[in-house]
Amino acid sequence: MITYHKQVSTIEVDVLVCGSGSAGVGAAIAAAKNGASTLVLEKNGYSGGIITAVHNPFFDGLVDLRTKEVICKGIAFDLYTRMGYARLTDTHMPDIHQTVDPELFKLTVDRMYKQYGVKVWYHSPVIDVVTEGSRIKAVLTANKGGVYAIVPKVVIDTTGDADVAAWGGAPFEISSTPQPMTLHFRIGNVQVTEDLDEKCGEVLKRHLTGDALRTYGGPWFFSLAPDEITINATRIIRPALDPEQKSMGETEGREDAWRMFELWKQELPEFKNAYFISSGPEIGVRETRRIVGDYTITLDDIIKCHTFDDAIVKGSWFVDIHPSDGSVGVHPHRNFVPVPYDIPYRTMIPQKLENVLVAGRCHSATREALGSTRVTITAMGMGEAAGIAARMAIQSGKPMQQIDVAKLQGILAIQEVQQKQAI
Ligand SMILES: Cc1cc2nc3c(=O)[nH]c(=O)nc-3n(C[C@H](O)[C@H](O)[C@H](O)COP(=O)(O)OP(=O)(O)OC[C@H]3O[C@@H](n4cnc5c(N)ncnc54)[C@H](O)[C@@H]3O)c2cc1C
Repeated sequence: MITYHKQVSTIEVDVLVCGSGSAGVGAAIAAAKNGASTLVLEKNGYSGGIITAVHNPFFDGLVDLRTKEVICKGIAFDLYTRMGYARLTDTHMPDIHQTVDPELFKLTVDRMYKQYGVKVWYHSPVIDVVTEGSRIKAVLTANKGGVYAIVPKVVIDTTGDADVAAWGGAPFEISSTPQPMTLHFRIGNVQVTEDLDEKCGEVLKRHLTGDALRTYGGPWFFSLAPDEITINATRIIRPALDPEQKSMGETEGREDAWRMFELWKQELPEFKNAYFISSGPEIGVRETRRIVGDYTITLDDIIKCHTFDDAIVKGSWFVDIHPSDGSVGVHPHRNFVPVPYDIPYRTMIPQKLENVLVAGRCHSATREALGSTRVTITAMGMGEAAGIAARMAIQSGKPMQQIDVAKLQGILAIQEVQQKQAI
């Protein structure tokens, strides 16, 4: 006989946000700001998802690539300005690619959660769901406090992997050749020069033969300090939802990161006194489940810039699909510069469920379209719309499929203006 030691505690909430990455941050702040009692469940001990947990702190999708005009003006831009990188009155950015300090990101999100009354439970993974007909009745989490059944009116799935929607029975797609995972690593006491990435790339290319190095991407570098670099170069091609495979990916990522570091130290004077600061914290997963929503955005929609009546955010980033065919180095992805395009609300509505929205990199997109829609600030913009939509559904008593999208678009527009007036 099995004896269970834990009682399941039940907690009721208006909006439950599962995952506090880019999309989750947008969703939680928007839901709470608009009057919903909001709880966030996050498996890590901080917010940010890939921005903080992978040390990949970019605000891509914030601007129109052609003009550098800010196109994601809501919570994402508010957050950006609170970190001190711009003013809310700014209309254009000096660059297309914004780098932020991941520690400042964690702190600023915590402060915004506090300001808007978002309750957050870190170290609390979603482990299962309980469905009743087409509704998610409860979401289960387990943490040091025990096992909890959170009973929400609406769930926003921002896990990146569509865990909640998939476990709740919503259909999804998953590629048999997903984009590779990458474990980032940081090196200190380096002499950083303009062409260092090229020099490092040449070293990696020379050592590809034999057992020295299995593969690599880029390498792409960024620096938070003049003598330090974070490197995006390891390339792990394994299914990220399989726990054993993902763990092997972490292990191989660390091996490859150290190998790269050692090769550079041996061959490049710039690394003479360099030291390995850290890897991770965790391997970055680019692509897993994509829900099959009420609409699936396609590459054609992006290329032809199709307009949609239910547009809730503009996407703008390049179509960046990291290859998983064994090719190495820098893959071409900047030839086509998208005109900011519409992302429909329906791409966040999973089929078969009526009180769930899915925002961020697991929304409904073809694999090709996701190459652009997955970036951080586009994900945060989707989350923001989802948070407001959740509150609207609760107020109207309607399923997520039937909310008044014109009203949602109106609220998004008004809140942007109010944000500026609040300065
Ligand atoms: C290596 C790498 C490099 C990238 N480079 C760039 C770049 O340069 N620019 C750019 O804009 N984008 C880049 N991306 C893509 C981008 O970072 C993501 O697509 C984006 O962060 C998606 O945001 P998200 O909120 O949907 O998902 P995520 O950022 O993955 O957030 C998901 C959150 O949910 C949490 N979570 C997951 N499962 C559970 C669970 N069961 N219970 C509780 N919590 C859970 C996670 O811990 C995480 O905090 C990169 C991605 C990777 C992996």
